[in-house]
Amino acid sequence: MSRRKLIYEGKAKILYEGPERNTMVQYFKDDATAFNNEKKAIIEGKGVLNNRISEFIFNQLNDVGLETHLIKRLNMREQLIKSCEVLPIEFVVRNIAAGSIVNRLGLNEGSILKNPVVEYYYKNDALGDPIVTIEHIKINDWANEEEIKKATKISLRINDVLSGLFRAVGIKLVDFKLEFGRYWNNEEKKIILVDEISPDTCRLWDTKNEKKLDKDRFRKDLGGLIEAYQEVAKRLGIMPEGTNIKEIKTGISKTIKLKKS
Ligand code: UDP
Repeated sequence: MSRRKLIYEGKAKILYEGPERNTMVQYFKDDATAFNNEKKAIIEGKGVLNNRISEFIFNQLNDVGLETHLIKRLNMREQLIKSCEVLPIEFVVRNIAAGSIVNRLGLNEGSILKNPVVEYYYKNDALGDPIVTIEHIKINDWANEEEIKKATKISLRINDVLSGLFRAVGIKLVDFKLEFGRYWNNEEKKIILVDEISPDTCRLWDTKNEKKLDKDRFRKDLGGLIEAYQEVAKRLGIMPEGTNIKEIKTGISKTIKLKKS
């Protein structure tokens, strides 16, 4: 791994040069951060679970014609991905009020929004990832109108697919964050989904008791983060009962039995 060329190191992932042209390797770290990097911890096994959960979700999306950057999972912590020019925008889709929208708009946590809502945030740590409008995105050339429209439409379709997927396993998809990139296939440019979809980037509540099965367990010091992420993986049918937690934590076991998707 150390011999590979590092392209970018983020808070939870590292990107390395891939084995072929137009590919990269995305490595999932165990680092957890919140509140614009003010709160940090290393949670053993988180990267392994996010790699597996995100692979499963991206494959489901690819299968229904929503193209993503995922080519294939390589091992416990790495995925082979298509290289894209990532838009500096976070697309947040919300179904239920939680997190920042609660304070910003004075809503009650848990209230169901009349329609799913898409919000845009400018990815900039120094500015604390501010919420922005489509006009702000256009005047700064972060993306053009067509790209924003496409990504917004895909975000809502992803919301439909994932809401159903999670509902079927007793989980409410409260909200989530997406990132998109420009991908060139010969001369044709496409806007495709990049990054990850995992309990780090979604709010997931148990339908029965509203137990939080996502990164809010870290943000709010609730404990049991790995157990919650494991629960999500189990319900999605990608981590059979009896999988050894130590193997997940180290991410180096060859004996772990992950169900083929
Ligand atoms: N989110 C994310 N990365 C970010 C900001 C938000 O993955 O940098 C996700 C977050 O996990 C939640 C959704 O986007 O599922 C909406 O987050 P919100 O705006 O409520 O902000 P937060 O409460 O996470 O600060």
